[in-house]
Amino acid sequence: MADLYHMLDEAEASFITMLERFAAEKLAPKAAATDESGAFVHAQLDGLAETGMMGANLPEKWGGADISAQALTAHYLASDSILIGGDDDLRARYLPDAATGAKLGAFGLTEPTAGSDPADIKTRATREGDGWRVKGRKCFISNGGVADFVVIYAVTDPAARHRGISAFVVDKGTSGFTPGRAENTMGLRGGHVWELDLDLWLPESQRLGAEGTGFRTAMTVLDNGRLEVAAMCIGIARAALTAATDWAKTRIISGEPLAAKQGIRWMLADMALDLRASELLALEAARLRQDGARFSEAASMAKLHASEMAHRVTDKAIQIHGGYGFTRDFPLERHARDVRMMRIYEGSSEIQRNIIAGHLLAA
Ligand SMILES: Cc1cc2nc3c(=O)[nH]c(=O)nc-3n(C[C@H](O)[C@H](O)[C@H](O)COP(=O)(O)OP(=O)(O)OC[C@H]3O[C@@H](n4cnc5c(N)ncnc54)[C@H](O)[C@@H]3O)c2cc1C
Repeated sequence: MADLYHMLDEAEASFITMLERFAAEKLAPKAAATDESGAFVHAQLDGLAETGMMGANLPEKWGGADISAQALTAHYLASDSILIGGDDDLRARYLPDAATGAKLGAFGLTEPTAGSDPADIKTRATREGDGWRVKGRKCFISNGGVADFVVIYAVTDPAARHRGISAFVVDKGTSGFTPGRAENTMGLRGGHVWELDLDLWLPESQRLGAEGTGFRTAMTVLDNGRLEVAAMCIGIARAALTAATDWAKTRIISGEPLAAKQGIRWMLADMALDLRASELLALEAARLRQDGARFSEAASMAKLHASEMAHRVTDKAIQIHGGYGFTRDFPLERHARDVRMMRIYEGSSEIQRNIIAGHLLAA
C-alpha cells in the first residue's frame, strides 16, 4: 500500500515492498502471455515460494511467515482450513509443506447446486469400516486438478443441515478422486477451476476436527479469504489508476495533455478516493484479524467495497484511454475481465450485503 506505509510496521512494510518488486519484475511481464494462453501458473507459484508467500497466512510454528499479507486465495483457503479446523497431527502432516509451496492446496466447497448457500451441499460422507466413504461432485474448484491436497466439505448428518457438515483432507492420487474438465473462464486465466468427481474412501485420520464442525471452519476460512480478495482488487485497481494517470499526463488532445481537462481530473480524483476507501477498509479488517478480534463484518465490507471499486476504477481507466484501452496492447481490458470475478466468488456482492445487513439488524 504505497500511500499507507505509515500505517504499517517496519516488517510489514518491507515485506510488501519486496512483494511489489517481485510482482513488477517476475509476474507482470508474464501476465499478458498467461492470459492469452490460459496456461496454469505453476512457474509463477514456484517463484512465489521463494518469497515466503505460500505460507504467509500460517504461523511460524508451521513454517509460515506469520505476516498478514494475503494472496494465493485457493491455497490459503486449503491451509487455513487445516490450521483452523484440524488437529496438530493434520497440521504437522500438511502445513509445513503448504508453507514452503512444496504442496499446493485446494478448497472444495462449491457444488453444481450449492454455491451461495453452502449449507445446501449434497456431497455425502458416510461411515464405512474405520473410515469414511465420500461421494459427490464439486465444481469451480481452483487448483482442484493439480493440487496435492484438497479440503473437501461433505454432509455427515443431513438432518442437522449446516451443523451436519464435516471437512476432510483428500490427497492427490486417492483412488476415486477424479478431476473432470477445467472451465474456460473469462478472466483470471492463469488460475484454473475444475469439476471434481468423488467416490472415495478416507481413513478417520483425514477428517478435520470434530464431526459437524466443517461449516463453521469454512465460514471462518472465508472471512480470511475475503480479505485476500480485497487485496487482489486493490492491487489491480492501483495498476489501473497508475496507468490512467500516466496516460492522462502524456496523451495530447487539442494541444494539451488530457490531464488538463477537468472531466478527466475529476475522474482520476474519484478513482483515487474510491481506492483509498478500499485500502482503509481492508487495513481495518486485517488489523482486527491480526489482533484476534471478530472481523467477519469488516471482511465483508472490505471485500464488497474493493470488488465493486475495482470494477469502477478499471472501467474509468479504460474510458480515459479511449479506444486504446479497449485493445489487447494495453493491460486494462485484462484487468477489467479479471476483476469481474471478484464480485462473485468467496460470497457474491449480494451475499456480502446480506452478511452486513445481518450484523446491522442483529445489533
Ligand atoms: C474462477 C472461480 C474460482 C472459484 N474458486 C472456488 C474454490 O476454490 N472453491 C470453491 O469451493 N468454490 C469456488 N468457486 C465457486 C464460487 O465461490 C461460486 O461460484 C460462488 O459462491 C457463487 O455460487 P454460484 O456460482 O453457484 O451462484 P449462485 O449461488 O447460483 O448465485 C447466482 C446469483 O444469485 C445471487 N444470489 C444467491 N443467493 C442470493 C440471496 N440470498 N440474495 C440475493 N442474491 C442471491 C448470487 O449473488 C448470484 O448473483 C469459484 C468460482 C469461480 C468462477
